[in-house]
Amino acid sequence: MGKPGRTSNESPVEVESVHTPLRRAVSVNYHFLRTASRSRFALRAHETPERFDSQLAQMSKRFPFCRAGELIDLTSRAPESSVILTFDDGARDVVTWALPLLEKHGATASIFVCAQPYLEGRLLEIQKIEFLMKKLGIGGFSGAFYTEYERRFGSEIEREPLDFAGGYDFYRYDDEEVRRFKLDLNYRIPYAKVVPILDALFAATFGAESEAEAVRETYLGIDDLKRLADRGFEIGVHTNRHRVLPRLDFATQKHEIESGVAFVRELTGQTAFTVAYPYGFHDANTHRAMRELDLRGGLTMERRAICPQDLRDRWSIPRFDVNDCFDRESNQMLAAVFSQIAANEPETTG
Ligand SMILES: [Zn+2]
Repeated sequence: MGKPGRTSNESPVEVESVHTPLRRAVSVNYHFLRTASRSRFALRAHETPERFDSQLAQMSKRFPFCRAGELIDLTSRAPESSVILTFDDGARDVVTWALPLLEKHGATASIFVCAQPYLEGRLLEIQKIEFLMKKLGIGGFSGAFYTEYERRFGSEIEREPLDFAGGYDFYRYDDEEVRRFKLDLNYRIPYAKVVPILDALFAATFGAESEAEAVRETYLGIDDLKRLADRGFEIGVHTNRHRVLPRLDFATQKHEIESGVAFVRELTGQTAFTVAYPYGFHDANTHRAMRELDLRGGLTMERRAICPQDLRDRWSIPRFDVNDCFDRESNQMLAAVFSQIAANEPETTG
């Protein structure tokens, strides 16, 4: 996803590359990790605690765990082959379900949070969409959405191009109607139009006062984040509002990243920051912003193992989704993924 591999406008630092440790890693990304819930703010669990427990047991037998920041920081001590566990969106599940299992298996992780839920007490659109989808059903939600769109902005729907995605196959498991609607919500209809409609539908569906409750139920609290940082977990930056960065101009991209950084800095006192790009998308402006903000590295959702070249470039570090790493039926580690970092494996992508 995003612009893969090398970037042309950043010359590798030749002097350093001589000493670059030959690190490889598989980065496995999780979002929500929970059992079924009866809450009205229930989210689709991307993984269950039972499966996560077994995944940790399997991975810990073969590889050490490492935080993303340590892997990227070439002056730090990091194993030659490791697994990086990441959690995006700062779900409360990280303390409720994941933390006891991580501690049981002696695993560390990097947790990527957005600032907006804390600074403004608002849900990220991505979760607002999921709550509405679940409550209203796809037909009810899309009907209400397009009706409201027409009422506010007319019958002509404004859609932005998907050029930034480089032909990425969006929502390949959804049928065409769902796919088109999700694309409109997340990638195509301008934020200035989609956001007020989602706010109105959310208030109409759940009650005007319910957003604060949904925020508390959905995301880690400030105390949780501090506790995780104290216990040695990396708190990473998932920007301010979880926008698709390449849809924004340079200044807005930089602001999105910078305000996410400021939030984490304030919270943890960290001085170096790893960023996970929302939805994995990034472009040359993103890289420029990352450089100007002097950040440590940027994680994408490009699905392959991390090789030494990725750590030299730093702004497009690949990452798997957990679904790519374990068999959906048996929950066994997929050799195609993890053999890429096994010892004595030749470098395949550098
Ligand atoms: Zn995210």
